[in-house]
Amino acid sequence: MQNAAILTVDDDPSVSRAVARDVRRRYGDRYRVIRAESGPSALDALHEIKLRGEQVAVILADYRMPQMNGIEFLEAAMDVFPLARRVLLTAYADTDAAISAINIVDLDHYLLKPWNPPEEKLYPVLDALLEAWLATPAVTMPETKVVGHRWSAHSFTVRDFLARNLVPYRWLRADEAEGVRLLTAAGMSEADVPVVITTDGKALARPTEADLAAHVGMATTPASDLYDLAVIGAGPAGLGAAVYGASEGLRTLLVEQRATGGQAGQSSRIENYLGFPDGVSGAQLTDRARRQALKFNTELLTTREVVGLQRSGSATLLHFGDGTAVTAHTVVLATGVSYRLLDAPGLADLTGRGVFYGAAATEAPSCAGEEVYIVGGANSAGQAAVYFSRYARKVHILIRGEDLTRSMSQYLIDQIEAIPSIEVHPRTQVVGGEGRDHLERLILCDGRTGLTTAVPTSWLFVFIGAEPRTDWLGDVVARDGSGYVLTGSDLLADGRRPAGWTPSRDPYHLESSMPGVFAAGDVRAGSVKRVASAVGEGAMAVSLVHRYLEAR
Ligand SMILES: Cc1cc2nc3c(=O)[nH]c(=O)nc-3n(C[C@H](O)[C@H](O)[C@H](O)COP(=O)(O)OP(=O)(O)OC[C@H]3O[C@@H](n4cnc5c(N)ncnc54)[C@H](O)[C@@H]3O)c2cc1C
Repeated sequence: MQNAAILTVDDDPSVSRAVARDVRRRYGDRYRVIRAESGPSALDALHEIKLRGEQVAVILADYRMPQMNGIEFLEAAMDVFPLARRVLLTAYADTDAAISAINIVDLDHYLLKPWNPPEEKLYPVLDALLEAWLATPAVTMPETKVVGHRWSAHSFTVRDFLARNLVPYRWLRADEAEGVRLLTAAGMSEADVPVVITTDGKALARPTEADLAAHVGMATTPASDLYDLAVIGAGPAGLGAAVYGASEGLRTLLVEQRATGGQAGQSSRIENYLGFPDGVSGAQLTDRARRQALKFNTELLTTREVVGLQRSGSATLLHFGDGTAVTAHTVVLATGVSYRLLDAPGLADLTGRGVFYGAAATEAPSCAGEEVYIVGGANSAGQAAVYFSRYARKVHILIRGEDLTRSMSQYLIDQIEAIPSIEVHPRTQVVGGEGRDHLERLILCDGRTGLTTAVPTSWLFVFIGAEPRTDWLGDVVARDGSGYVLTGSDLLADGRRPAGWTPSRDPYHLESSMPGVFAAGDVRAGSVKRVASAVGEGAMAVSLVHRYLEAR
């Protein structure tokens, strides 16, 4: 990458020289290696690089530095080069500080000093970070811009779609000078917003998600009409299945109706996924998993919804919402679950305009200094509360039960208790929402007294009652009363195989009532609703796919 820099900063001159020397030895032919000996001088260097219109790929900062420690420096550096990958250099004794930095500055990695031999401890880390940085769309192309209204549901949908698909963009309000300038340049007006200006200068007025996907370089049309394996849903289970399927030589299609990552992609920090002792944000995990799936030649389609399955000889036809179809020898259903809508007067009209389902991380900076309400008592709600507390003046968690202990992991309860700006309101329900162009107040009901109160707020984030959206499957595969897909031994009633079952064997463990169609992750009846189990089931489904294909 011509002109891109790797910046290292350490106040100890000998260490500073050693880091720069090791980095230069391996990357000096492709990157400019810049060395600084204090936070302020490194910041000056970053500003200078910015002014020259050049880029910074990776920043390595020592933790213990006078004037400005490594975390403070990285936080300031994020404002200048938000896409640069961030590494903190620490001594073993400072590991705790490094772990807390993961939340503060969205650290990509911390490296324990000394890192000898660099071939083992330094270069693999930097190789992975540089690869990730190069794959960031904004690095290789100019920026996508979104011009819209602050309180427009459509503007929110566009921003949320781009953010969840990891497409960097710049958000400009239609009533600020730069927004007006862009609209004028595009020959458009406020009546056309949201307007998306693509990196090749095309202006899209009120785009659909499919328009956006096509214009920001995501594939939306299948390259073939026959696959070994079609995976429906690109959450952890689907991504897991795609990685294993494609890496094991199956021609694999992964179909996602909205954004890769599924529910996990909305998580601000997953702390219980094996191999990430310091936690990982849903966006980072998704980015890695998506790159891994693509590396093994998975074909990923975004904004394509599968609306029907149909047997076609020994294969299965997948029908898309636009009337087209593809055929696959085997299918993994990995469609997960979605939040149930909160049913209270006034809320439906305010969705996307103050009422949000899921974490809606794009909104967090706008909550600065305000009061935020979160409905739900599970881990997803707890994570959101911790995340929003970094921006909001006060975060209120509303739960129907007495306390969080029945529904939330203890590590999150501990975190919440340690944050004074978070308040838990037991036995409290939202019974209404009001506002003109956006949410202005919520009506809350105290379950003990039945009394209602109106509280002023513009922010409600709902995390309740996830349910599978599997109606489109009809009777094609057997489902339980709540819509979850039945698999394996759950399909055997008193030892009898499901109606219409033709093979001379029982269904495999994750196989549905349609032979060759498997279910993995949250959509499967009886599944554990966790990232690790979803990924594990995705992998296991692929081994059963092989068994199915061999036995045909
Ligand atoms: C905010 C939040 C935080 C969480 N934190 C944690 C945590 O810390 N630790 C943990 O272990 N778990 C956590 N979870 C739970 C975890 O994310 C889920 O268990 C996991 O994502 C389930 O994976 P999945 O692939 O089965 O389904 P999902 O993640 O739900 O993905 C399903 C995907 O399928 C797509 N899809 C659905 N229908 C169709 C269709 N017809 N056609 C095409 N695509 C379709 C959806 O758009 C979605 O992207 C969290 C969940 C949330 C919401």
